[in-house]
Amino acid sequence: MSDKMLAVMKKERDKGAELVTVDIPRIKPDELLVKVKATSICGTDAHIYNWDEWAQGRIKPPMIFGHECAGKVVQVGDQVSRIQVGDYISAETHIPCGHCFQCLTGKRHICQNLKILGVDIDGCFAEYVAIPEVCAWKNDQGLPYEIAAVQEPFGNATYTVMESQVSAKIIAIMGDGPIACFATGIAKAVGAARIFAVGEFPYRVNLLKKMGADVALSILTHDPVKEIMDATSGEGVDVVLEMTGVQGAIDNGFQVLKKGGTFTAFGIPSSKIQFDLANGIIFKGANIIGINGRRMFETWFQLSNLLKYKKVDISPVITHKLPLKDFHEGMEAVVSSNKEVGKVVFFPEAR
Ligand SMILES: [Zn+2]
Ligand SMILES: [Zn+2]
Repeated sequence: MSDKMLAVMKKERDKGAELVTVDIPRIKPDELLVKVKATSICGTDAHIYNWDEWAQGRIKPPMIFGHECAGKVVQVGDQVSRIQVGDYISAETHIPCGHCFQCLTGKRHICQNLKILGVDIDGCFAEYVAIPEVCAWKNDQGLPYEIAAVQEPFGNATYTVMESQVSAKIIAIMGDGPIACFATGIAKAVGAARIFAVGEFPYRVNLLKKMGADVALSILTHDPVKEIMDATSGEGVDVVLEMTGVQGAIDNGFQVLKKGGTFTAFGIPSSKIQFDLANGIIFKGANIIGINGRRMFETWFQLSNLLKYKKVDISPVITHKLPLKDFHEGMEAVVSSNKEVGKVVFFPEAR
């Protein structure tokens, strides 16, 4: 193999990204070298591309970004024991330290010293990526590459839904991004009795419907609070899954939450939000759950069962499949204003 590869790099502290030819990464003793078969764009990558406030504070160019991927292991470091050359893996993007309180008590996904692939170390928008062995999830050989690549965000949705205990309950999902679409399919699969999905963009509201929402509403054309309260005899829903981080959606979520219900927060606000603690939580006796990433690796076992036994078909959410050299085309679809896009997957081997 040649010692150079194609990669997408954030070169400057500025908007955009460049396609570059760079050296194939050299692995450390606890790392694997993975030939990337498929890699997908996450909201985080759009933040890095747009060089917003969060990216300016966290990202240190020059670096290769991207963190959602699947591929074949082509080389392993001396200390690697669980994974072998030839294994087909997906990347868990949490890189835990292994020795803090959280790591030692089964909560590696909220490690105090957590690093993130493609954020704190070079990522997978490339032909090859080096990942620590601890982040490797072994896939079944038959799993399609594009499905394997999006298991990480599908895992966010799985963790959110499973932690919220939605079975036989009436739920509302706030958001229309790929993770909200995945969550809709998962909630349906695990037996939510009725799913209200509240989005914005018509193309994506249609995806929510395709993924199994009983009622899918756009805030552009509907008053979601009125519609949900009317449909639930004024009681509201048992569970709200908040997947936007947007003030208006969070307010709507607390308004439609039934007394004693569960509000699960996953969407990350870009700044501090205003909050009615008294009416939203205290008088309601609401349960609040915060979701960060995925449990390592309980969530992966659950999500892979959902995929393997075909409980959820996520193919409608994968709307764009492109060679990696067409990176800009894919990223422009993600950052476009009409959001006629679900998940964008790149195939580095495609020409
Ligand atoms: Zn992601
Ligand atoms: Zn730790």
